[in-house]
Parts: sequence; C-alpha cells; structure tokens
Amino acid sequence: MSRSLDDFAQGKLTDLDSKGLRRRLTVTERTGAIEVLRGGRRLVSFSCNDYLNLSQHPALKQAAKDAIDRLGVGSGASRLVTGDHPLLPALEARLARLKGTEDCCVMGSGFLTNTGVIPTLMTEGDLVLADEWSHACIIVGGRLSRATQHLFRHNDLDHLRELLDQHRAGHNRCLIVTDGVFSMDGDLAPVHDMADLAQEFDAWLMTDDAHGIGVVGAGGRGSTFAGGTKAAVDLQMGTLSKAVGGYGGYLCASKAVIDLMKTRCRTLIYSTGLPPATVAAAIAALDIIEGDPEYATRPVKKAQRFTQRLGLPPAESPIVPILLGDSARTMAAQKTLEDAGYLVIGIRPPTVPEGTARLRLTFTAQHADADIDALADLIADKVLAGDEPFRASS
Ligand SMILES: *Cc1c(COP(=O)(O)O)cnc(C)c1O
Repeated sequence: MSRSLDDFAQGKLTDLDSKGLRRRLTVTERTGAIEVLRGGRRLVSFSCNDYLNLSQHPALKQAAKDAIDRLGVGSGASRLVTGDHPLLPALEARLARLKGTEDCCVMGSGFLTNTGVIPTLMTEGDLVLADEWSHACIIVGGRLSRATQHLFRHNDLDHLRELLDQHRAGHNRCLIVTDGVFSMDGDLAPVHDMADLAQEFDAWLMTDDAHGIGVVGAGGRGSTFAGGTKAAVDLQMGTLSKAVGGYGGYLCASKAVIDLMKTRCRTLIYSTGLPPATVAAAIAALDIIEGDPEYATRPVKKAQRFTQRLGLPPAESPIVPILLGDSARTMAAQKTLEDAGYLVIGIRPPTVPEGTARLRLTFTAQHADADIDALADLIADKVLAGDEPFRASS
C-alpha cells in the first residue's frame, strides 16, 4: 500500500476543503415524479433533469420490465460483438426520425458520445472551436482528439468569426461545437447563425442537445428546431438521461458519419452496449414525446412562470440559474431552501466559472404552480433579500 498515494489524495481534499470546493455525495431517493427523500426529509426537487418526469412513468417502467423478461438485464458485450440487441436499432431509427437525420448511433452515455465522436472525426492538424461554456465532456473530447482547440466567448459569433479568420486556413478540418441548450445557464446557442458561419468557413457544426431533446423546439425535437425552422447542424448529439428519463447517449447524423462511428468510435467499440431495459424505456419515452407535443412544452412554461414572478428575462429552456457569485453564499442559500422543503442544488466552480456560483433550478412538466410561486417568493425574500436578480452576461 502506497503511503504517498493517500498523502496525495488527502492533500488534494484538504486544499478543496479550504476553498469551500469539496463535493460530497448525498443519497437521494426519488420517491415520485418531483419528490425526493434526502437526509430523512421529503423535498420537492427543483434539481432533477427529468424534465418530463418520465423516469418515474408507468409506461417506461413496464417497457423496461418487459425487456428484461425478454432479453435479460445486460447486453452481454460490445455492440460490435454480441451486444447489438434488437431494441438498439429500433431506438436509433426513432431518434433519427425525431431529429430529421439519415441515421443515428446510440452509445453508453452522453459523456461517452462526446468523448468518442470528436476524436473519431478530428485529429492532429485539425481545428476544434468550442463555446467556452460547453459541457466538460465536449472539452475533454476535443483534447482527446489532439486537434488544436480554441474556446470562443459564450454565444459570441463575432469572436467565433475572429477565431475562424485567424486559424481556419492553417488547419485541415474544422469542427465548431457547442451546447444547444447550456446546461448551467439554460440559454440557447444561436445555431442557425453558427450553421451559416460553418458553411462559410468549410467547418462542421456539432451541437450537444442534452437539455434540448424532449423540451425545446417544436414537439421536443431539440435546439436544432428552435425558432421554427431546422438549422443545418451536421452532428446532433444528446443524451437519453434527461428528458428521455433513462440513460444513454446518441449521435444523429448522415448515414456515412454514423457508419464511420460504428466502425471507428472507440467509446462505442470498446464499451458494452446499453442494457435492453434502458433502451426499451427510451423507446417508450419517445412514444410519449411524439404522441403528445403539448406535454413537451410544459417544462419551459413552468420555468417561464418562475422567471416572470421573479422579474427575470423569460426562460428559454427548463433551466434557470440564480447567480449568487460566492460559493459559501450559494451553499447557504441551498440550505435555506432545503429548510423550507425545496431541493435546489448549488453549483460551484469548476463546474461554472470562478465567481459565478449559483443556484441552478430545473423545472419539470409536473411541478405544481403553487410550489413554483412559493419558491420564487422564498428566493426573492430570503436569498436575494432585496438584491437585484442578475444573470451571467453573455
Ligand atoms: C448531462 C450532459 C452530458 C452528459 O450526458 P450523460 O448521458 O449524463 O453522460 C453531456 N452534455 C451536456 C450538455 C450535459 O448536460
């Protein structure tokens, strides 16, 4: 046993403790569509990404149970060996249809999708341009690819153009990548304008729609469809772990790109296929999303009820941040709300930039209006206490 290893780990922990940045797991039992049991208390959760409350839906539970009875609990191997059970291509066809692409590849998770897809397309001598607020797994994927990676200022098309002017000519291929809906801020990327820029500079555009599918764009088709027309996004990735209610990741793209992923993407090839129950649940979720387009609009409407009551700009997605800046203040605010029966998790650096610690609220289809109003009033009185609410400047 290595003493130096434990000393190293303890030293890191002590440092994080001293900065108020140590994180700890808290067992949380999800006991209903919006209710959780945590630390012996029942709380109304405003921190689950289960925007349509489908993780607890009887139809999804039944589909998962049926799949287990029919196909077992595990897929048994990588999809390229024996793990490609019949529910996987069925789900891929459904996702491709929803996203309006030729084909789709389902992978282990959203994280595995980004860290696999980007290095499959990009390599040394290529250029990756990512929004500075992109999810961590996009940045990791860019690094793994060994392409030159630059970050453009959040949603700043002028800066993106500047970087393209400066670097595009000196590189082979170029990928522009961004969250479609920003996970910690809830705003949308200007995907239509980005698609124009990508075309102008012979670049490919990839969006991460983890928080878009099921809740944004007509019928919950995602950020590519926000604003009513389909943007020319080459690579639409996302997760099955949020509005879709279960677990898994996907990439929707042309047939050639998907065929390439299925033969070269390391996180697909060297990782076991998703279990049948998970895939069956995702298919049942898409049945609900496609069968009831009104339901998919509800989380954003709930978020807008909240932003209106607090005098904030209208929510564009189910995610609303309340920026408090300081980590200690944020964690104290979380505690205040928890004492009143609401679970709202504080988010600190390095998940968000230094000085922008915040409460991150997520609204779901089945949140009661009375709870939303009460929470907004509580935040106004006890957390902001007269301060002007503000949002991060773009
Ligand atoms: C949650 C999230 C992911 C990761 O998806 P998982 O399926 O949970 O691994 C990727 N990108 C964004 C923007 C996310 O919010």
